[in-house]
Amino acid sequence: MTQASDLFSQAKKFIPGGVNSPVRSFSGVGGTPVYFDHAQGAYVFDSENKRYVDYVGSWGPMILGHAHAEVIESVKQTAEKGLSFGAPTEIETRMAEKVCQLLPSIEMVRMVSSGTEATMSALRLARGFTGRDKIVKFEGCYHGHSDSLLVKAGSGALTFGVPSSPGVPASVAADTITLTYNDSDNVRKTFAELGDKIACIIVEPVAGNMNCIPPEAGFLETLREVCDQYGSVLIFDEVMTGFRVSLQSAQGLYMVKPDLTTLGKIIGGGMPVGAFGGSRKIMQHLAPLGPVYQAGTLSGNPVAMAAGLKTLELIGAPDFYDHLSNKTSQLVNGLQQAADQAGIGFTTNQVGGMFGLFFSEEKHITRFAQVMQCNQDRFKRFFHGMLDQGVYLAPSAFEAGFVSAAHTDDDIQFTIDAAAAVFKTL
Ligand code: PMP
Repeated sequence: MTQASDLFSQAKKFIPGGVNSPVRSFSGVGGTPVYFDHAQGAYVFDSENKRYVDYVGSWGPMILGHAHAEVIESVKQTAEKGLSFGAPTEIETRMAEKVCQLLPSIEMVRMVSSGTEATMSALRLARGFTGRDKIVKFEGCYHGHSDSLLVKAGSGALTFGVPSSPGVPASVAADTITLTYNDSDNVRKTFAELGDKIACIIVEPVAGNMNCIPPEAGFLETLREVCDQYGSVLIFDEVMTGFRVSLQSAQGLYMVKPDLTTLGKIIGGGMPVGAFGGSRKIMQHLAPLGPVYQAGTLSGNPVAMAAGLKTLELIGAPDFYDHLSNKTSQLVNGLQQAADQAGIGFTTNQVGGMFGLFFSEEKHITRFAQVMQCNQDRFKRFFHGMLDQGVYLAPSAFEAGFVSAAHTDDDIQFTIDAAAAVFKTL
């Protein structure tokens, strides 16, 4: 058994920051990241075999719990037939058909290998389809790390976005307009001024990358309305919410139909996957049918398709989402009660199997600015307290949490009891 601190020191010699994705480094909470050795159901086990009840679920994909026997079996059987062919396979069509059946807004879908690729490609398609360059996104939403989407709001000037990372050209950022999530008036005003230059709106229909912020009544409808009015493409980035908030995803839950949808996480069942799809009218602009180019060596990889397709089959079980949602409610209600008893300013948001925890005196958190006001120091101490108790939460105050079908009532109670103890120490 090797200690996490030794593993992390070794990693830092060869991998920038010791990690292959920044938030894993615990830079948001301090300390040494936990190194996982294996996982089963609702639990992850670290390199010293300590058990944690897991609410990260590999950042969303593991909705069935870890190492689900049927998913693993499907992956094994497929892997034995060869890992990749770079040629069409039948399972890709079965996956595409399944996605189209589950999400009626999607008539055609293209598989890729990550959420970043899905959103990047959807933007190109929207721009190619409309012949326009500008895009609208919302502050606090994350859509992967492509240049057009790593942009924050420019101060004052509506038309100029500012790169949020060195390496993103200012000229690219200038075409990204960043607005306030849940502010419909601002969206209308922006379209009145620039609507005929805007290729698309891209939005997380439930924001999950600024903690968890559901859309206010009318917000998604406004986006639909302005896109229809100005001939812009509405893209729902459902990489996180797809098959997480309901079997019909956020678009079914809120009954707003996007033109394009991006997917990832759950549709890969834990394997590297993304997808983008929508109406035939738009999708037929994609190569080889149309002129908008997009491609991938490992796109539609059979092993990834096997994991994803089996996952999509299993989440279709009757009452799957009622159970998931009830369990998640049980968790957030229990945590709220424990915080209230300890006199800690705390509130929660929840949509289906995703949730957000906020250390705040405010009771309704609906805006990015409110999330930024939350007590981050308290979150850090809560995070480490829970980690000691054997509960693994996202190591950042700005991430949604996820419950899986494998979490039992006992796991939820264990978590609430742990939180009750930790709240007392804050
Ligand atoms: N869109 C959303 C809504 C996401 O949450 C994420 C990742 N968390 C992405 C896109 C990017 O996906 P990936 O990390 O697979 O590139």
